[in-house]
Amino acid sequence: MPSVRRSVRPIPLPRRPPPRRARFIVRAAGAIALVAVAVGAQPRPLRVIHDGDASRVVVRRLDGAEVVALAEIAGAVSGELRRGSDEESVELRIGSDRLRFEAGRSFVGVGSRDRLLASPAIRLGGEWFVPLDFVSRVLFDLLPRGTRFDEPTRTLAVGGGYPRLQVDVRPRPGATRIELATDPPVRTDLEETGRGLQVVIHAPFLATAFVGEAPEDGVVERVDLRQGEETYFLEIATGRNFGRLLQEREQGRLTLDLIRTGVRAESGAGILPPLPGSGPGRDPAPGDPGRPREIRTVALDPGHGGPDRGVVGPSGVLVEKDIALEVAFALRRILEDERGFEVVLTRETDREVGLDDRAAMANAARADLLISLHLNASPSPASSGSLVYHHSPIVVGRPRRGEAVRFVAWEQSQASVAPASQALAGALAATLAEMEIPAAGVADAPVRVLAAAAMPAVQVELGFVTSEADRAALARPDFPQQAARAVAEGIFRFQIGRPASPPTGDPF
Ligand SMILES: [Zn+2]
Repeated sequence: MPSVRRSVRPIPLPRRPPPRRARFIVRAAGAIALVAVAVGAQPRPLRVIHDGDASRVVVRRLDGAEVVALAEIAGAVSGELRRGSDEESVELRIGSDRLRFEAGRSFVGVGSRDRLLASPAIRLGGEWFVPLDFVSRVLFDLLPRGTRFDEPTRTLAVGGGYPRLQVDVRPRPGATRIELATDPPVRTDLEETGRGLQVVIHAPFLATAFVGEAPEDGVVERVDLRQGEETYFLEIATGRNFGRLLQEREQGRLTLDLIRTGVRAESGAGILPPLPGSGPGRDPAPGDPGRPREIRTVALDPGHGGPDRGVVGPSGVLVEKDIALEVAFALRRILEDERGFEVVLTRETDREVGLDDRAAMANAARADLLISLHLNASPSPASSGSLVYHHSPIVVGRPRRGEAVRFVAWEQSQASVAPASQALAGALAATLAEMEIPAAGVADAPVRVLAAAAMPAVQVELGFVTSEADRAALARPDFPQQAARAVAEGIFRFQIGRPASPPTGDPF
């Protein structure tokens, strides 16, 4: 990604009534008579883009075949239709090419050659009709280089140089991202509609494979691409969980983040992670313990290991120490590849590591964050969901002599970053909530491995092996990757910094 100036901001959108339905251009005389013999629903019209103008050629059904009027084709591609010497033939001139049709014959003469059509040319009420496949089989070859014919939308774009459109719809933690790229860049406008939003793409023809998508994640119900007369419309039907919109614009690219309701986002900063190498430095203001310092190194702590298997599912297949390690590996890859973080693991193999040693390793690495990864278990099969712990110095019972001193000393180091640990827990809980396993939220408890850490530190319980629903998700082969993605997004979100209070106001 090039380093470009990007802005992320909530925007007020102009209101505009939905565009009127596309008009069909009917040029042929006698069309009304033909409608009477048409059987069934009106077929999709042929759309012709020529010299920047879009026109529609009506497709009719005659004797079961889809046909187009030659006069309309001629008009759409700046051709000329001439009667032959007798009533039974007609000539279509396109540039220097002469195409000869005869009534009742399935051949079209092009120069000295005959080309075969799917059905015969028809003369009816003074009008000439040819099967629709004439467009793709014969006409297409006569048009200038770069001409495109898009079969699904029946769009014939004469000549080259049409912009390509790429649309990408991706659910993200706390948001649905819709990315729209045009090459070469095309002007786009964002508008509010009765059903949600729409992007008006100012081009009569776009080369694109995108038709639509239905994320149905409650934030975005559907995204549909529709052709208008001179523009395209990317229609975004928002769902009940759509809260607010953030957008980024750069040349040829529009990124929309539709933020889920209840997800906090700092106005003017945006919820989404910046690109590596872009944006100003994000060091927190000094004296603000709730804000993260710059993150360079992340310590990941896969729980348990060796003879300590952690919690194990009823069938013995789900083993906490193994899943924790897999998630840590996946998370390391994301943090290194996408953010260039240094990542240290407290263990990379199936071995036992003491709790204090884990924290000591994070401290020795001067890690900026410590994330301990675990699974949960409960005597109650109803207990389910992910849970993020931050440390709280509630001493349960009486510590042994000697241990108390160290405990207190270490605890002081965690105490100095406690607000940041709490913010980190909140950020992770928010992104984990987007996973299949619902988030039970944030909790504080005395957690030995966290208490000893000198940096913002949390323990993530990814789900309950004793919950049937959680087990189904935990057992999926892609669970480690998914969980790692959610945790990574939480870290990115924490890195940006979160406001202490919910967002105020609505951009709309
Ligand atoms: Zn554990």
